Amino acid sequence: MTLLQGGLVVTPDGIIEGGSVRVQGETIAAVGLLEPERGEDVLDCAGCVVLPGGIESHCHLDLEAGAEVTADDFATGTRAALAGGTTTVLDFATQFHGQSLATGFERWMEKAAGRAVADFGFHLAMTEWRPEFASEMAGMVARGVTSFKLYMAYRHSMMVEDDEILAALTASRDLGGTIGFHCENGRLVDALVQAALAAGHTTPYHHAATRPTVLEVEAIDRLEVIAGLARAPHYVVHLSSGPGLAAIARARAGGSAVVAETCPQYLLLDVAAYGDPDADDLASRAFVMSPPLRKAADREALWAGLAAGDVQFVGTDHCSFNLVGQKDKATDFAHTPNGAPGIELRMALLWSAGVAAGRLDPARYAAVTATNAARYFGLYPRKGALLPGADADILVLDPRPTWTVRVADLHENVDHTPYEGTEVTGRVRDVFLRGHRAVVDGHLADELPQGVFLPCGTPDTSVV
Ligand SMILES: [Zn+2]
Repeated sequence: MTLLQGGLVVTPDGIIEGGSVRVQGETIAAVGLLEPERGEDVLDCAGCVVLPGGIESHCHLDLEAGAEVTADDFATGTRAALAGGTTTVLDFATQFHGQSLATGFERWMEKAAGRAVADFGFHLAMTEWRPEFASEMAGMVARGVTSFKLYMAYRHSMMVEDDEILAALTASRDLGGTIGFHCENGRLVDALVQAALAAGHTTPYHHAATRPTVLEVEAIDRLEVIAGLARAPHYVVHLSSGPGLAAIARARAGGSAVVAETCPQYLLLDVAAYGDPDADDLASRAFVMSPPLRKAADREALWAGLAAGDVQFVGTDHCSFNLVGQKDKATDFAHTPNGAPGIELRMALLWSAGVAAGRLDPARYAAVTATNAARYFGLYPRKGALLPGADADILVLDPRPTWTVRVADLHENVDHTPYEGTEVTGRVRDVFLRGHRAVVDGHLADELPQGVFLPCGTPDTSVV
């Protein structure tokens, strides 16, 4: 047994000052004002915050994208996640054109099993819609995949049509599942991209210019009409804008079972990162991601939504491509591999810019980084909370140190970070995955536990 003693312990039932967590084997035995038992190991947590291990709701590890494969696979990506205080990752198993849903799931199981050092579960991303998927989705639910994903963007590759969304939502509703939607109007993005390229506009600035906020808003509003017809739970992945958030808040006020995820990049970065319209330095290609970065005012709106309960959880959309050897090969923004890393820094960045900056309290931090995702994706109470009987996935965060992000210090297998040079307050001190101490005083342990597959149960759509 190990007693994590004397920290600010954050539980779903409240915060315990000077509280302790007792770990027995792979689970939490007790939480409260506890004294060490005879012979028990004690880890002093004075001055630190004791939190549930983070749950990454959105990542793409070992994903094939065109001619490229993401720089991080399940070995490197989950190692980075653990180093950063995230103990569970929910990755997008992807069904490619012509494949069955089961093939997508089984391919991802092969990618992750035996390699992951954090626990893992899957969403199933469908790159097309075929009528037989309605029954194939039932097979996925039986195997522990209860959330699916559809793209309203990426015309000619993954975009689905409104009637297909209706069919998918109807099937998902009947199965007790949920679907996450990439909300951008793919036809209009495509039209703007083609016009920009025809005019010789090739730089990263034009990546953002061809994906304006209004196209996110339109897609959300349209999704809400369709989901209203199906009366189906669903969520918006990687919400990027204030007007998009307002569309979701309107829908929620009208009774829609919609929840929202945002990402650190939309909370911390903004459109200035792309540089001016003529600039095509390699560094600005780091920010070619979809949706693109927005205005500073959008960041503040998303923080407010996160605090107020209109945004329920934060994933990173970690989808890493190297600048040298991958992003540099493209001759224009439209062919630049889309995506950015973030899996390792999510917990620290959210603490620093959220709690240390006074935008979130520690309870809300635990909710949006772990508890809400656990509930929404059917992993609660095994994951996402410091409760007796839960897996002993624990983050001990020291809120006092200030440090500067340097890519050289990270474990992500990629040659840059969008957060290079960011000043961070608070650091990940210790991390336990099912009772195994994976991070010791800020350093990854030599021996890491093996991650296990987590079958997801029925989504709890009441999260706020
Ligand atoms: Zn994604």
